[in-house]
Amino acid sequence: MSLTLAIIKPDAVGSGKAGKILAHLEGAGFTVRAMRLARLNKAQAGAFYAVHEGRPFYDELVDFMMSGPVIPMVLEADDAVASLRETIGATDPAEAADGTVRKLYAESKGRNAIHASDSDENAAIEIGFFFSNHERLGL
Ligand code: UDP
Ligand code: MG
Repeated sequence: MSLTLAIIKPDAVGSGKAGKILAHLEGAGFTVRAMRLARLNKAQAGAFYAVHEGRPFYDELVDFMMSGPVIPMVLEADDAVASLRETIGATDPAEAADGTVRKLYAESKGRNAIHASDSDENAAIEIGFFFSNHERLGL
């Protein structure tokens, strides 16, 4: 078993899809190990996506991620990082496979309902970003 970080993004929280997305993730076999509701400021959203700084979509992405509450969660599964990437689908919902979270719930390539870590190394960093008590949680 391994861990990854998911974030239900402001578009999905704001349109009342968080519960359906959580149920989808549980149905896909993930166990929720930690979860909270958070509101990111510009510095936090910018730091979380610092790897994309300078890309044409960066400013819009940061504004979007601070536009409303988000729900970060630590998910556990076999090969959690790769499994979650498969479960959420491609970045652009128009290209996401049928039955994936983004195909079902994303509005657009930018407002795409959910974030998922892309490597074990980044999962550890991203879990630490939202869950400073991760050692006490046993993560
Ligand atoms: N994004 C965007 N336009 C793009 C690429 C990405 O608005 O052309 C946004 C989108 O919200 C995406 C996030 O930036 O989820 C991070 O991009 P990344 O390439 O890491 O995609 P992801 O890992 O989320 O599939
Ligand atoms: Mg990414």
